[in-house]
Amino acid sequence: MKQTNKLPVGILGATGSVGQKFIELLADHQWFEIKELAASESSAGKNYKDAADWFLSIPIPEQITEIEVKKCEPNLDCRIVFSGLDSSIAGDIETEFAKNGYVVISNSRNHRMDKDVPLLIPEINPDHIELIKKQNYDEGFIVTNPNCSTIGLSLALKPLLDSFGIESVNVVTMQAISGAGNPKKVKLDIDDNVIPLIKGEEEKMETEPLKIFGELNSNGITLSDLQINAQCNRVNVTDGHLETVQVKLKKEASKNEIINSWRNFSSEPQILELPSAPKSPIHYFEEDEFPQTKIHRNVENGMAVSIGRLRPDKFFDYKFVVLSHNTVRGAAGGAILCAELLKAKGFI
Ligand code: NAP
Repeated sequence: MKQTNKLPVGILGATGSVGQKFIELLADHQWFEIKELAASESSAGKNYKDAADWFLSIPIPEQITEIEVKKCEPNLDCRIVFSGLDSSIAGDIETEFAKNGYVVISNSRNHRMDKDVPLLIPEINPDHIELIKKQNYDEGFIVTNPNCSTIGLSLALKPLLDSFGIESVNVVTMQAISGAGNPKKVKLDIDDNVIPLIKGEEEKMETEPLKIFGELNSNGITLSDLQINAQCNRVNVTDGHLETVQVKLKKEASKNEIINSWRNFSSEPQILELPSAPKSPIHYFEEDEFPQTKIHRNVENGMAVSIGRLRPDKFFDYKFVVLSHNTVRGAAGGAILCAELLKAKGFI
């Protein structure tokens, strides 16, 4: 591999649904260069093209195909590792990497609610990266990316919280197959079907935003008092989580004021012009039938959230539809944006 000034990075869980998206998004990244790939013992020792059941629509980037997949042990030749590990094993592996001086940016649930670990959406709570200083690893640290459905929802709620305050939220999700893992390996009975259970997802959607919207103080994060009720369903689409949301606001707001708060929303990643930051994190569509999963999941390379159908609600104040790409904004892309923020802020 030729020498560049880019920072070498590793991917833990490189063969999975999120791991493959990391490879696609990092293959030609301005600041980072893939140096190491790791996965389970059954993949270790193989070339990437033989280890991964590749399912993305682009071919495996050429420079990646022959990289040897390693075990997830902290002897990789890079300081930054992105983790797309299965949550049954991610917790201990990520801790071990942090203990050994690695910067771990994780998509798994295991460390998300740890007191001293940022649960980061760079447009919402960039100040939470200060929590890193409380971690007890010498040189290493862990930063987490929220659950994929939580990210779309939280981005939609943030401008409303800032402008009007929110009392309560009810959300129903329609989530893509790629959210369940590599679709070539995970067989879901999804043809002609909707599966009304995604284990643990509703709890994550109801609790993670409380930390994301929480206030940073000298003791850590004081959780937000927002009330959220969630119901999550798996539907037969490849990528993209669509959510129907009802909100009760603290202050009265007109439809135009709400739409303007979404359209004008911009934050630190946009000011810093981070390479993966969408120009506008939120796109509002006036067309009654939009957003639609197949049409809008890739808006701004899958890093923006699409919203539409804002209208009054009989029981709450308003209802609307939110769409975000689960493996891009909701996983690999979101984690890469976190790493870019950490670099821009001098943490790496
Ligand atoms: P996945 O397709 O099942 O991939 C899991 C990865 O973990 C594979 O690379 C697998 O390697 C590796 N792995 C499994 N057991 C291992 C072990 N004992 N030691 C080392 N590596 C092991 O899952 P995914 O959908 O990519 O999700 C990965 C993580 O991201 C999960 O925690 C998930 O909850 C989270 N997440 C997923 C999404 C999404 O949309 N998919 C979104 C946000 C967050 P092998 O191929 O070698 O088995």
